[in-house]
Amino acid sequence: MVGVREVGLKVFGEVLDTAQRFLVTREKPEHRHAIPSGNVVNVFVVIEAMSPLVIRHNEPEELVTMFVGSAPAPAILNTKLQGVARRTLLYNILTPLYNSYEEVRKAVEEATGKTSWQCYVRPHVREGTRPEQGEEAVEAYCGSCPACLLFGYTMTERGAGPRYNVKSHVEGDVYVATVPVAKASMKITRNAVHDVTKTTEQALFTVNAVKPGTLFVGKVAVKDVTLAELLLLLAAYSRVTRIGAVQTHFGEIKIRIPAVVFANRELGFGYDLARQIHAGGGLTDLEAVIDAVQGYARNITRPGEVLYIGDVSASVTALTEEELAAVAAQAWRDAAVLKASLELFVSSGGKKKQ
Ligand SMILES: [Zn+2]
Repeated sequence: MVGVREVGLKVFGEVLDTAQRFLVTREKPEHRHAIPSGNVVNVFVVIEAMSPLVIRHNEPEELVTMFVGSAPAPAILNTKLQGVARRTLLYNILTPLYNSYEEVRKAVEEATGKTSWQCYVRPHVREGTRPEQGEEAVEAYCGSCPACLLFGYTMTERGAGPRYNVKSHVEGDVYVATVPVAKASMKITRNAVHDVTKTTEQALFTVNAVKPGTLFVGKVAVKDVTLAELLLLLAAYSRVTRIGAVQTHFGEIKIRIPAVVFANRELGFGYDLARQIHAGGGLTDLEAVIDAVQGYARNITRPGEVLYIGDVSASVTALTEEELAAVAAQAWRDAAVLKASLELFVSSGGKKKQ
């Protein structure tokens, strides 16, 4: 069976050895695992629009933009990207590995004491049923899997034990386009699909969309994670293929991770990075944007911090299913220790017992 360290070496090479001290290890439930350690993996990303993107917030026809220097640029809000990364982790990684690998099922059983597992991104209440008619009808976040422990969840009144909220270990900022909105947007006219007939012969409507090929830059701060959890998150972000609009020809994206900085602080902001790019007149070429992101990461890394430059998304995408299964099994064990540590912390009222 492949080890998680070997997988980590495949992704980060020998940099992993010096980076390891900015990752956590959780062997058994302990009070200290419930408290932030200050370790941050700063993951720099470049998001490429592969088809028109309809990124909306409140105004249905308008793109989300923010001023960078003197002109507005399209922006992707973190809530959107984080939501889709969580779904990708859950449905495209954790669930298929659970179904295919005995090793993962064993880890889940050890972690949860249960022989089945399901976790939904949204509360799943079947129509016409009431919660008391069965657990399955209200199953939502499972509260035990790596996706829940990494992205956070709220304990409901369901079940015994202490109640608490688990904060996300993943904190993204804003992902800003490398050119102003005037260069990055297009109008598209779509057929409105009729709700009842599902035909498209009804009215046409026009929306503003981000042009394919537009590039966005930003950073995801990943806090207090084990190596297995980091690898799982990197795999999830790298496998995200779609954001926003539900229609098939829209919203396709590709995420690249050209730089990672391991530190005991959060460093760099997507907005800051975008502002530097815009100050130089903006960039449209992928290689040039990757260079700019890597240069930015290099400039803000201080002595003692660990910079990794390389194509992280390509490395994690190239991992075999067996390697990912080993990572997922370890992440399940790590999640179980974290959950038990949180429960220990909550039941002690936050005070350390000797
Ligand atoms: Zn879950």
